Amino acid sequence: MALIVQKYGGTSLGNPDRIANVANRVVQGWRQGHKMVVVLSAMSGETDRLINLAKELAEDPDPRELDVLLATGEQVTVSLFSMFLRYQGIPATSLLSHQARIYTDKAYGRARIIGIDTARIREELKKNRVVTVAGFQGVDEVGNITTLGRGGSDTTAVAVAAALKADLCEIYTDVDGVYTTDPRIYAKARKLERISYDEMLEMASLGAKVLEIRSVGFAKRYGVPLAVRTSFTDAPGTLMTEEDKEMEEIPVSGVALSRNDARVTVSRVPDRPGIAGKLFKPGAEANIVVEMIIQ
Ligand code: ASP
Ligand code: MG
Repeated sequence: MALIVQKYGGTSLGNPDRIANVANRVVQGWRQGHKMVVVLSAMSGETDRLINLAKELAEDPDPRELDVLLATGEQVTVSLFSMFLRYQGIPATSLLSHQARIYTDKAYGRARIIGIDTARIREELKKNRVVTVAGFQGVDEVGNITTLGRGGSDTTAVAVAAALKADLCEIYTDVDGVYTTDPRIYAKARKLERISYDEMLEMASLGAKVLEIRSVGFAKRYGVPLAVRTSFTDAPGTLMTEEDKEMEEIPVSGVALSRNDARVTVSRVPDRPGIAGKLFKPGAEANIVVEMIIQ
């Protein structure tokens, strides 16, 4: 019996049939005696729809209120999902971020998870329930709703898996794994059975859009075995782990391509200690992520 965290993305939840399909997958695991925690995204297109709705009323929506709005997307999927399971006679409970106790800082729209109190999730699991957790959202120390940034449910899933010390975290998405390069660009790209966290971090930072990059960093830091799979077939996906001997022998695992970057060049930088800190600190303090540094 294992503790498994599964995350399903928006396309896997795009309509009631798909939600039912995904729910049946979860039930399979549950019937095998596994403890199942399911992190869900909003239905595909929903987060964009909500952002556009906000913009119809406010050109530059207030970040706090925008997060309250955006968090509803995931509230819809977790409730529908648990409702369907209960209708089938499977015990299930949906938890929003304050119930799952996912605590973040107060950076609306790009909040960082600072801790998860797993007591409530464990309590539900002990009652043999399937637990569905709303992805992408958290609460700050005074209970304001925050969101983690686009694609943030991946990070929710890995963070929940880390906090629960789960045996496996499976991310179900619209691609069936990590490829040696983008299969839409190069038809002969091969699916990788395994990849190390570091290689995945490299590829994600270079634009491979399989997983949200923060989630890979989390997985590495806490040693969460992370798999990328699709909910549309039974194909085994790609497993991410610490690099081992066998993997070390492959010098290049993949190639990624990025076409959408903003580049800032700072020239005539004096070669003095402390100068790099001066350059990068203000950006870091403003939560601006630098994807690549070339010196
Ligand atoms: N629903 C959010 C988004 O579209 C989070 C996610 O899907 O991971 O960005
Ligand atoms: Mg995603």
